[in-house]
Amino acid sequence: MTEFRCNFHNHTVLSPCADLTMTTENYINFLTKSSLDWISITDHNSSANVRNYKKIIEENSGIKVIPGIEVQSIEEVHILVYFEHTHECEEFGKIIEESLIIKSYNQEKLGYQILTDESGEFSEIIDSPYLGSSSSYSVDKIFSMAKKYSTAVVPAHIFRANGLITQLGIPPKINFDAVEVKSEKEMEKAKKIGYSKFIFGCDSHFPQQLENISCYIEADSRNFQNFQNSLNSEKVIPVWQP
Ligand SMILES: [Zn+2]
Ligand SMILES: [Zn+2]
Repeated sequence: MTEFRCNFHNHTVLSPCADLTMTTENYINFLTKSSLDWISITDHNSSANVRNYKKIIEENSGIKVIPGIEVQSIEEVHILVYFEHTHECEEFGKIIEESLIIKSYNQEKLGYQILTDESGEFSEIIDSPYLGSSSSYSVDKIFSMAKKYSTAVVPAHIFRANGLITQLGIPPKINFDAVEVKSEKEMEKAKKIGYSKFIFGCDSHFPQQLENISCYIEADSRNFQNFQNSLNSEKVIPVWQP
């Protein structure tokens, strides 16, 4: 068994709120300075940069990347969906993108949405839809749509802005694979409302955050089954961020 150092919540230059320096080059620079082993790419409402970032990171750092997306539901709840397969993440991402409510937006004010090519170069600026928008699907619907694939579905930062509990008040009767919390206090609070399976992410929007380890997973290898098993058996070990 190896104890893998992980951070499963990171944005790229595609997310309008992420810094323009969240390039593949900076991912490599900062990730290779860190001791991370296993991460995920989770842009807002799109998975269009996942394939290229995954390929470049895995080839240049030896770090394993889980394809992911952070969906915003119609209730404005952020939900992380982790996929076993990149092509399924892309298919799901397209469905989410098409469902976004806000089509055009002020790029200068709200941030650019940038696609990168196979070598990590900027290839296109996406001006529609606005990826910071809500999808027209509910939390319930997003969960059932995501579960048609091999996925782990995890509400993000549940007690923060756009968190499940912040937005809905009471926890819905949905069997999530885990919930994301940001502190020990939040974890205790989540346990009191019935949650027992957790994940811990840095929600990186700036390159400096890419160095942070947010949790450990003990497994014999970094495959999706082991990731899911660790969530389901409550074996993800937190590293609390200052
Ligand atoms: Zn979020
Ligand atoms: Zn995020």
